[in-house]
Amino acid sequence: MSGSAADLVFVNGAVYTVDAARSWAQAVAVREGRIAAVGTDAAIRPSIDGHTEVIDLAGRMLLPGFQDAHVHPVYAGLDMLQCDLHDLITKDDYLGAIAGYAEANPDAPWILGGGWSMEVFPRGCPPKEDLDAIVPDRPVFLPNRDGHSAWVNSKALELAGIRAETPDPADGRIERSAGGEPLGTLHEGAQRFVTDLIPPSTADELYRGLLKGQEFLHALGITGWQDAIVQPAGDASGDSLTTYLTAADKGELTARVVGALWWDRLRGLEQIDELVALREQGLAGRFAATSVKIMQDGVCENFTGAVIDPYLGADGIPTDNRGISFVEPALLNEAVTRLDALGFQVHFHALADRAVREALDAVEAARRTNGMSDTRPHLAHIQVVHPDDLPRFRQLGAVANAQPLWAAHEAQMDELTIPFLGDPRWTWQYPFASLVRHGAMLAMGSDWSVSSPDPLEEIHVAVNRVMPPNYPYTADRENVFLPDERLDLATAIAGFTIGSAYVNHLEAETGSIETGKRADLAVVDRNVFAHPPQEISEATVQLTFVEGERVYAAPDA
Ligand SMILES: [Zn+2]
Repeated sequence: MSGSAADLVFVNGAVYTVDAARSWAQAVAVREGRIAAVGTDAAIRPSIDGHTEVIDLAGRMLLPGFQDAHVHPVYAGLDMLQCDLHDLITKDDYLGAIAGYAEANPDAPWILGGGWSMEVFPRGCPPKEDLDAIVPDRPVFLPNRDGHSAWVNSKALELAGIRAETPDPADGRIERSAGGEPLGTLHEGAQRFVTDLIPPSTADELYRGLLKGQEFLHALGITGWQDAIVQPAGDASGDSLTTYLTAADKGELTARVVGALWWDRLRGLEQIDELVALREQGLAGRFAATSVKIMQDGVCENFTGAVIDPYLGADGIPTDNRGISFVEPALLNEAVTRLDALGFQVHFHALADRAVREALDAVEAARRTNGMSDTRPHLAHIQVVHPDDLPRFRQLGAVANAQPLWAAHEAQMDELTIPFLGDPRWTWQYPFASLVRHGAMLAMGSDWSVSSPDPLEEIHVAVNRVMPPNYPYTADRENVFLPDERLDLATAIAGFTIGSAYVNHLEAETGSIETGKRADLAVVDRNVFAHPPQEISEATVQLTFVEGERVYAAPDA
């Protein structure tokens, strides 16, 4: 048997293969990084010899490694290495963490990091005085968890020259007292007054950010992803393209990654030649920069998501604000058609119903000119989808890239979104089950660091449409958010495995446990199908493998 003996064998498990038939098995054999056989214990045991590592799953679940179709691991990892507030709950927690970070990093010229929640502060706006009391001498700049507002201290305001007489920029707002004095929160484009002063992240910092992010994602069973913004050299937020290429060349990129190159919305079609050149440079090992990210709108909470009918005011009366289309639709059609003809995938940020429609219109224009290519354009966020557009995803071969964790009654949804969308439009939110009923291909992602990258928490919400019990959001956990849009567990798992593999053009190699595919695998501590759906988020990943190599093991695994 030695000629065909396995390097690694899993036995005695609940192996959920996510193959086309959604079949189950007990055991899996791995040889030379690939799945050599899938079957019963009796069928697989003969492939064990003296050199085979045997893992007794003891009833635990084996899944294909999860894949995240929209995530920012370099910057999120960097956040984790800085002053990280994401997992904290109260203002006192935040202040304790910030003081501790400042004390531990006495030579850092800036206190950076972030991840606070708007709901912790009155009107979502934290004051500078809290920061001044703990860090009076150095500037502090801490964005909230979605990056749309930042908390700053007096030193940062002073260095940025923000005073009562400073006007708001066109695309942002300085939070002020009645007398105009800045209070310590900067919204949207007003953050630039301060960010322009912050030294860009060094190559070394970005590299450490990627490795930290990768380590964290592997610990959640994630073996591949699409990085939703990869920036080339010269960008103020740092050159993450080189970060990935360096990691791939050094053999330290253990995840499989597709990078989405950033479409500069202040420029036009002339940037396409540069994108082609970046794609040529951007191939190494497990990394390929073959996608282009076009951000078509903003978010609903601050009324920059592009809506077909205007937002309502606090009085329930329509305003004249329809949000922002960042790329003018005629240019969008032309850009997507040209990119598609060049074989690029387009990854849209398309959040509200007009942006979704404009993105689908652009894909339709590309299909009309270029025919039905295999570029697999995808629309991320899809928060508000007009019912007329639901069938178009399948018709156009556009993938629905869902961030399911946001589909719940939590404070940001109930207080900052539903009242301003109004009836019936608020019910068009996150229509994942409707999209599936209309035949759409569904992929899933987290948008980490905006929200948790834990696929089991994401799947929990996709199935229950209720926030997980321990998730640090103020949420109405009694009230299911649009129950008709709940997904069954099998469909949600498929979204985070074979669906996201499809988006990354990796479904022939990964995304399911089938003979011949790469052994990218995750061991979960229980068979989630055998427990009530309300307990999905309690499950944890214990082991993660990429091509049969262990990239994560829980202490108790
Ligand atoms: Zn994102």
